[in-house]
Amino acid sequence: MTVIHNLGFPRIGAARELKRAQEAYWAGKADQASLLETGRELRSRHWDAQAKAGLQWVPVGDFAWYDHILEWTTLLGAVPARFGQDDAAPVELDTLFRMGRGRAPSGTPAAACEMTKWFDTNYHYIVPELHPGQTYRIAREALFEQVAEAQKLGYRARPVIPGPLTWLWLGKGDAFAQGAADAAKLDLLSALLPVYEQVLQRLAAQGVEWVQIDEPILVLDLPAAWQKALGEVYARLSQQGPKVLLATYFGGLGANLDAVRALPVQGLHVDLVRAPGQLDVVLAGVRDDQVLSLGVIDGRNVWRADLDKVQALIKPAVERLGARLWLAPSCSLLHTPIDLDLETGLDAELRSWLAFSLQKLDELHLLQVLLDGGASEQDKQAIAAARKAVQDRARSSRIHRQDVAKRLTESAAIARQRTPFAQRIQAQQKRLGLPRFPTTTIGSFPQTSDIRTLRRDWRSGALSDAAYEKAIRAEIERVIRFQEEIGLDVLVHGEPERNDMVEYFGELLVGFAFTAYGWVQSYGSRCVKPPLIYGDVARLAPMTVAWSSYAQSLTDKPVKGMLTGPVTILQWSFVRDDQPREQTCRQIALALRDEVQDLEKAGITVIQIDEPAFREGLPLRRGDWAAYLAWAVDSFHLTTSGVRDDTQIHTHMCYSEFNDIIQAIAAMDADVITIETSRSNMELLGAFEDFSYPNDIGPGVYDIHSPNVPKEEWMVNLIHKAAQRLPAERLWVNPDCGLKTRAWPETRAALESMVQAAKALRKAA
Ligand code: GLN
Ligand code: ZN
Repeated sequence: MTVIHNLGFPRIGAARELKRAQEAYWAGKADQASLLETGRELRSRHWDAQAKAGLQWVPVGDFAWYDHILEWTTLLGAVPARFGQDDAAPVELDTLFRMGRGRAPSGTPAAACEMTKWFDTNYHYIVPELHPGQTYRIAREALFEQVAEAQKLGYRARPVIPGPLTWLWLGKGDAFAQGAADAAKLDLLSALLPVYEQVLQRLAAQGVEWVQIDEPILVLDLPAAWQKALGEVYARLSQQGPKVLLATYFGGLGANLDAVRALPVQGLHVDLVRAPGQLDVVLAGVRDDQVLSLGVIDGRNVWRADLDKVQALIKPAVERLGARLWLAPSCSLLHTPIDLDLETGLDAELRSWLAFSLQKLDELHLLQVLLDGGASEQDKQAIAAARKAVQDRARSSRIHRQDVAKRLTESAAIARQRTPFAQRIQAQQKRLGLPRFPTTTIGSFPQTSDIRTLRRDWRSGALSDAAYEKAIRAEIERVIRFQEEIGLDVLVHGEPERNDMVEYFGELLVGFAFTAYGWVQSYGSRCVKPPLIYGDVARLAPMTVAWSSYAQSLTDKPVKGMLTGPVTILQWSFVRDDQPREQTCRQIALALRDEVQDLEKAGITVIQIDEPAFREGLPLRRGDWAAYLAWAVDSFHLTTSGVRDDTQIHTHMCYSEFNDIIQAIAAMDADVITIETSRSNMELLGAFEDFSYPNDIGPGVYDIHSPNVPKEEWMVNLIHKAAQRLPAERLWVNPDCGLKTRAWPETRAALESMVQAAKALRKAA
């Protein structure tokens, strides 16, 4: 029998029960007992579904209150001093919450731990804080309790824990070099491994047969010291009682393969969705006493699997391994929505192309019967339906549009370069007549509950189109008047019509679909519902021109047209898997190109293309960066290159680490880029200075993530700092991101003070 299993199940609940329970508990509206009860219910429901699907074990330890890395950090007792943890006492749940979010119903608030993206996903983990001499102990019982809980319910529990090397790699500390790779962190292994051993021994005592140890860093470019450390770590961890399944995902093992092959672990899991090509080499290295788990169902996307294709791919493994072959999703299902059956609003055809977490478990079962025989009548029908869906999807005219294909082919001939910046900026200056240190904002203004209600009522039909349009126009007029009154130079319309910067465009473009419950966890209790890009992307009509030109009609000052860039739309969606991502990205870029040109024709003189997700699209391995950056930059050019010299193109990226990508940023050749710099005191401009970044730049002068109103002198000072690094005549003055999460009083005060800062700078210059 081929074994089927799962690396982890989404923890949030199909109705986001976990979110609701956590938020109620944090707000003091529910007690801890009821929170814990919700956790138990979710675990039991999810184990039940996995057992019913025929999985050999159920994963335990994939459940987490805030984040699974934070769960592990607290199990290890690695609580930073500011949380006042007693070294002998267990770590309480409220301490975990304070580490994740700064506060909890009990305990003193303290600065939350840093949060950052989990590999190339949109999930965020809480960064472990490390320091030399750190000690560890088993400080939380949740994992062992959950194992007992699963066993009591009659399931075979397979615990999943983060591997020591991945945990250290993700950790940070002042004593260690920036970036993950500092080998000095490996010195902590001598304190860490004994605790891992104790954990494994305790699990063995609970009757656990297999433990899954996740080492996703094995798909990264690992320095030699980290590769070398693997040997000692797994020699020890595989001898504690439970058999070890070493799980790798999000890519291929690449140059780490030899080191991994030599490990005495009892099982290895590899990702065959991201890296199907690694099967031969991996298979060649499997020892007779090892099992190989193949990740063949896409844990990162929502498409139904092509079961025949999977079968063909894994044939050599089936022949060689027999019962030592296991099949699983490529990675934890944390990154896919839970249940497609809830999506009754999707049309049947589109729905037949999809599989969410529960459906992916069924796919594993179907693969199992395809390999082993013994299909029931129901299985046979399901297999036939799966085959039909895959065939229909490949041929559907909803997916493949002749016009888009033709456009894409012809787009090869589009000139990507604009006139050199030095010339363009003169033409733009002549047309726009902006002062030195021009002031602007990033796009959105406070999204008050009134605005949200407007949009909701309009969607539900409670508000007519005409009434909605009137109300949005009134809001646009308000923000235009406000900006004029405080003296900003380049205005925005405020984006009141947008619920979300990707969803807004997705709903107006062909090729996108939206789910009702397709939530995935982003961080803590926060979930996102990414659009699905299922087919060729096309724009049927202008998407923003009416709002932008209305805004422009109200004022003599330039009002920026505001678009979300192709890479960001791609990055924050579930993208079709039947063509390369770059092709989908170029289709989006061409649709946006038409919008840019329509905005220009409508008299808009400044157009901003937001690309906040540009950097997060970087592949995990450096070797793949150049190819990505080439198509990402090309997509930006496709969007923007058709405009007149005196139309000014802005872009916005709300983060700060530009060192790795500064050449690509410069190659985008936006006339103005606005970025986040205020929190680091302009130090982040280093990359731009070292590179002699040639175009205009707006280094955000205040942090919009906080309600604090920045002082004028503080902002003047920041711009002085920026002017030491970059030519003053290239600098803009703006906040570091959109203002939609802020309230009006602080927004008004902050922007007034920002405009005063710019005036002071002009006077001094
Ligand atoms: N224009 C968008 C806004 O202001 C940009 C948001 C972002 O960078 N994430 O809200
Ligand atoms: Zn931003």
